[in-house]
Amino acid sequence: MAAMGKTVIPIAASRGALPIPEARRDAGATPVDALGRALRDLRISVTDRCNFRCTYCMPKESFGMDHEFLPHAELLSFEEIVRMARVFHALGTAKIRLTGGEPLLRRGIERLVGMLREALPQVDLTLTTNGSALKAKARALEAAGLDRITVSLDSLDDATFRAMNDVDFPVARVLEAIDEAAAAGLAPIKVNMVVKRGVNDRHVVEMARHFRGSGHIVRFIEFMDVGSTNGWRMDDVIPSAEIVRRIDAHFPLEPVEPGYRGEVAERWRYVDGAGEIGVISSVTQAFCSDCTRARLSTDGRLYTCLFAQQGYDLKGLLRTGADDGALEQAVRGIWQQRTDRYSEIRTAETARARKVEMSYIGG
Ligand code: SAM
Ligand code: SF4
Ligand code: SF4
Repeated sequence: MAAMGKTVIPIAASRGALPIPEARRDAGATPVDALGRALRDLRISVTDRCNFRCTYCMPKESFGMDHEFLPHAELLSFEEIVRMARVFHALGTAKIRLTGGEPLLRRGIERLVGMLREALPQVDLTLTTNGSALKAKARALEAAGLDRITVSLDSLDDATFRAMNDVDFPVARVLEAIDEAAAAGLAPIKVNMVVKRGVNDRHVVEMARHFRGSGHIVRFIEFMDVGSTNGWRMDDVIPSAEIVRRIDAHFPLEPVEPGYRGEVAERWRYVDGAGEIGVISSVTQAFCSDCTRARLSTDGRLYTCLFAQQGYDLKGLLRTGADDGALEQAVRGIWQQRTDRYSEIRTAETARARKVEMSYIGG
């Protein structure tokens, strides 16, 4: 959306935050929302910047050279991130994923991983990356205490991948990074492929073939209507059921029971024992009823849904001296009144609504 040559993105930072609701008394430590879902996972966006311009996430027309990212003072510091992570952990959050934007662009990310590991030795700590800077950082991340890593890779066809990341980044460098991460001990690696009709869907089987038998798990993700800039249309979505059918025709598959309640990916394994794939069907088979995930934006706002329009300003509380008890009560109150189920009630109209961008809220 361009105005007078300036890029204006409707991220929540430019609008008011939601008032923080008061917490009700709760029998257990872990807050449960209005639809009976416990708070279990936290995604933390550590930067809204990225060196890629994936057409489905940060299209160049909206995230151009003059796009204004958050100023450094607005970002949660590492100390503030660790403090929020502790608060969530005290409320029962067992899994933390660092994301963005591109999290490896945040200077000193391995130091943040080390700080989180030291503060929360038991937490399951993971990170999602586009892989561009992973080769150089994989060993340091593992040494700092990262448990696992997810690497996004939308095609093995170099021309298609370069066009999708829209900065001409080659496939080979991401594959090298995956090998390096595995050698560093971050295996098994999850490989995320967003599938868009007519763009990379003809490469689905090739992706499955490449990673079969490697121990890594490819997860095929339906193209989603996150944010308001990616020009989403239902016609561009390849339903996961079709992806499974296409792969099954070459390499027979059978379903795998979910590992835990709230697992986002539906799991399938190769009948011949060559490993597993996952499909994430946010559009065609919504999984809101099991959604236990909160998102902390780069500037410290809490979002209770990937498709939210506004968040709650926790950084404001942090920076005005709230103690941990007050922060816990704030998160508890926010979670208790949560009613989000966007994917279950998606319509053409909601898809067009102004929502926060994924790069800001954390994918
Ligand atoms: N930059 C990192 C990366 O790409 O892995 C982390 C952030 S990115 C927003 C997290 C995940 O969201 C990536 O796997 C990306 O492919 C996925 N994603 C982004 N936009 C999407 C969309 N419109 N539909 C489905 N998945 C999307
Ligand atoms: Fe960057 Fe990840 Fe979004 Fe691609 S999907 S533009 S790599 S944040
Ligand atoms: Fe969770 Fe919102 Fe996605 Fe539903 S639409 S699964 S509530 S993030």
